[in-house]
Amino acid sequence: MGIVVQKYGGSSVADATSVKRVAQRIVATRKAGHDVVVVVSAMGDTTDELIDLANQVTPLPPGRELDMLLTAGERISMAVLAMAIGNLGQEARSFTGSQAGVITDSEHGRAKIIDVTPGRIEDALAQGAIAIVAGFQGVSQTTKDITTLGRGGSDTTAVALAAALAADVCEIYTDVDGIFTADPRIVATARQIPRISYEEMLEMAANGAKILHLRCVEYARRNDMPIHVRSSFSEKQGTWVVRAQDVAQEGHPMEQAIISGVAHDRSESKITVVGVPDKVGEAASIFRTLADAQINIDMIVQNVSAAATNLTDISFTLPRTDGQNAMTALARLKDDVGFERLQYDDSVGKVSIIGAGMRSSPGVTAKFFQALADAGVNIEMVSTSEIRISVVTAESQIDAAVNAAHEAFGLGTDEVEAVVYGGTGR
Ligand code: ASP
Ligand code: MG
Repeated sequence: MGIVVQKYGGSSVADATSVKRVAQRIVATRKAGHDVVVVVSAMGDTTDELIDLANQVTPLPPGRELDMLLTAGERISMAVLAMAIGNLGQEARSFTGSQAGVITDSEHGRAKIIDVTPGRIEDALAQGAIAIVAGFQGVSQTTKDITTLGRGGSDTTAVALAAALAADVCEIYTDVDGIFTADPRIVATARQIPRISYEEMLEMAANGAKILHLRCVEYARRNDMPIHVRSSFSEKQGTWVVRAQDVAQEGHPMEQAIISGVAHDRSESKITVVGVPDKVGEAASIFRTLADAQINIDMIVQNVSAAATNLTDISFTLPRTDGQNAMTALARLKDDVGFERLQYDDSVGKVSIIGAGMRSSPGVTAKFFQALADAGVNIEMVSTSEIRISVVTAESQIDAAVNAAHEAFGLGTDEVEAVVYGGTGR
């Protein structure tokens, strides 16, 4: 039988009891005849605690040292887990990201994997051992310093290793039973999705669904690596993330749903540049300024300029964490561009409906907007992709909007399915 890569998130290895439970699961997989590679996150909230610790000694921890500190979290879990497995009579060997051959660029705190050379993992497997790898970390090809992949990066480690080892599957163990049609914390009738395409999962992850790291899904799609998301707390079947052509097959005669899920995001803010002269190049200089400040823009809306004044308003959304920077950078541009003023709104949220079926189905937008209207939700901005429609609304209306959309597209179930076992959804 082939290689199985299993990733366990922080809530699955939060304490000694959880580590022992996970060890049992790993040993059972090994005994079923698979070669097993395990990727672990830091125990519980360790990463947050280490960040707090760093911030207590300096307001601006240098990237190199912060990465060195944070990677310690995953080293603790990998070693403890290897011991727990050993105690069950199986050999397990732990490896840091660097030892496992996870080679990255040198961007501390958000390094990208550029190569995986898992020679030592292959040796361990060949000798019958279970390999345990510290997630979320690697080593820079150029500086040889230790790097981290960004928060939630262990998912990406797992998929990258699975691809490099040509594993059969990458299993992501978390504290919910898989991927749901909406966040079960908001929608009581949310239904678990048995299979979903990489494309739809990418849109879900990019639009606020926190269950999988965006880059992990991108990596899986590029390498055609099936991801199996499931709970480490139950034996339920979970969700497969696979190629679009594999979603419908395999005993799921279910006709293609128009909408697969509803995602929401509370992490953005909205900036409006009021009274921009309607001249060639003004929008370019506004967005050039934001780009130079390394700010990622999401939705953009430019109004038609008022005939009388020849002035227009440009609104856009951006990560809330970049709000302060963006406002400062734009304020400096005020006299150059000659706009009237800036407005900042951090009480907005985004709600998205996602589904490959909308490509071939007219009226989806009308239905979505009607459902929002019936729920009294005001739409501030709209953006679409081929398989997604997103709206920005007041943050206070997100729950109502998500429930309305979920209901309108008939996504709910009568039985309550969702059980949230751990604390954080990761
Ligand atoms: N421990 C890291 C974090 O909390 C990485 C991960 O959990 O995937 O972000
Ligand atoms: Mg974590």
